Amino acid sequence: MAYKLVERPDLTLAERLYLPAVMKGLSLTLKYFFKRKKFTREYPEEPTTVPEGYRGLPALVTDDEGRTKCVACSMCEWVCPPEAIRIIPGSLEEGNPVEKGPKEFTLDTLRCIFCGLCEEACPEEAIFLTDQYEFCGESREEMIFTMDKLLEIGGTRIKGVKKWKKESDAGFHNKGPIR
Ligand code: SF4
Ligand code: SF4
Repeated sequence: MAYKLVERPDLTLAERLYLPAVMKGLSLTLKYFFKRKKFTREYPEEPTTVPEGYRGLPALVTDDEGRTKCVACSMCEWVCPPEAIRIIPGSLEEGNPVEKGPKEFTLDTLRCIFCGLCEEACPEEAIFLTDQYEFCGESREEMIFTMDKLLEIGGTRIKGVKKWKKESDAGFHNKGPIR
């Protein structure tokens, strides 16, 4: 492939002096300093609202009967760029139509970059990014969220993939996540 060399354009005298650009920046600063109404939010007393589709803390969800939707397929763990997710899968009881579920599922919130790839990759619609941006802890260990905590944050999602519903229609009943 032949590449075309792009010539760098010659700078004008004004561009070489930098002063016009500096003055332009300063005039904008002064405009905001004197003219615009000052705005200060008294956070956290005055909470802010996040736009729709905001990518906050990822969390696990349960179906309408309180059973975890995750099947421990590890797709999210595999796709996660900073390797924030750790899953230990386990088998469900024999005769169960759903083969496995997460025995342990942790999310290191200090590593998470809120990219949303886990949500994209999940075939069971079991993990979603919430609108939560306020979470803190006093140690690194505290910032590694357990499965119980993630399920509590995620809550229930009725729409979407219903693996348990489909199977329970055939006479199977299950306890849900492995403990
Ligand atoms: S949002 Fe991105 S970084 Fe965070 S757990 Fe999901 S895949 Fe990993
Ligand atoms: S959350 Fe989704 S992608 Fe991750 S292990 Fe569970 S089922 Fe698989």
